[in-house]
Amino acid sequence: MERVYNFSAGPAMLPLEVLEKAQKELVTYQSSGMSVMEMSHRSKDYEAIINKTEATLREIMDIPDNYEVLFLQGGASLQFSMIPQNLMTKNKKIDVIDTGSWSAKAIVEARKFGEVNVVASSKKDTYSYIPEYKDSDFDKDADYVYICSNNTIYGTKFTDIPDTGDIPLIADMSSMILSEEIDVSKYGIIFAGAQKNMGPAGVTVVIIREDLIGHAPEGTPSMLDYKIHADTKSMFNTPPTYTIYMLGLVFDWIKEQGGIKEIERINKEKAGILYDYLDKSNMFKGTTAVKDRSLMNVTFVTGDAELDALFIKEAGEKGFVNLKGHRSVGGMRASIYNAMPIEGVKKLVEFMTEFEKRNA
Ligand SMILES: *Cc1c(COP(=O)(O)O)cnc(C)c1O
Repeated sequence: MERVYNFSAGPAMLPLEVLEKAQKELVTYQSSGMSVMEMSHRSKDYEAIINKTEATLREIMDIPDNYEVLFLQGGASLQFSMIPQNLMTKNKKIDVIDTGSWSAKAIVEARKFGEVNVVASSKKDTYSYIPEYKDSDFDKDADYVYICSNNTIYGTKFTDIPDTGDIPLIADMSSMILSEEIDVSKYGIIFAGAQKNMGPAGVTVVIIREDLIGHAPEGTPSMLDYKIHADTKSMFNTPPTYTIYMLGLVFDWIKEQGGIKEIERINKEKAGILYDYLDKSNMFKGTTAVKDRSLMNVTFVTGDAELDALFIKEAGEKGFVNLKGHRSVGGMRASIYNAMPIEGVKKLVEFMTEFEKRNA
């Protein structure tokens, strides 16, 4: 069967070139005589793989030397707990901007460690925009300020990020990492689950400023302590070896495309094609505020649940799959991560145009 255009929010599409490279190396990796899956994580061959993966990520994201890159498990969701466990330790209070389920889940976990102040929220309008806030709203004594840079479910993203001064800014970038250029030095911690824009599920990348390591209180389980993972170079226990290898291939692919600058240009073009159509269409409507539109997750509706269902069904039959919106919001969502080729978006818009004509 031919490959489909997979608009899944995650696990999501991977670049075909990456899958083919992995296929070629699947049974025997270079001169090792074995699959990467069969290698000891302490072997020379594997050490070279993980080191190169980290080095390439540092290069494409331009990560400053005073940041550690960790490859952890437990998904982005474990970071909702691990961050407060390690950092809600001084004044035991934090500030959060609530932009939907993913920040809401982080709030639930952080409340187990202290006081969580929701500085701004767009909950009353089903999170269809990034709420207004002023940099002066942040509490100078907050242990950190927390945001979710791109809300995968509602399709919103921060275009400008808060200026929190000396308060560390922590960002969940699971659904937008590597999609556009960012200045790592503005953040205390950036974290992202792999399965949206970096590779298969199973690893979470944590980019953490050195001074934020080593604050876990006594009694913290070793697996939840950033210092232990940093000191052991993500090898405290067996890391998800094959997933990390796959990340390395994706990072190489990004470099081959011309780096994140070029990826960002393509992503803007891709999202632009879809949003331009939504703005013109009499049937389909974007659901988020124009100023806060995500480049990665494009959410839209027809306004008629039956028509939505018919569209999703017919699109699926044509090879445009996983267009159903998140179960909490309904409608449609086209996730167009880095690996979605521009033709996929163009062909989807062609199909939408045809569907609109036929059902007008
Ligand atoms: C998918 C996602 C998560 C959850 O990731 P898991 O790896 O399943 O824990 C968290 N935050 C955002 C923004 C996501 O898109």
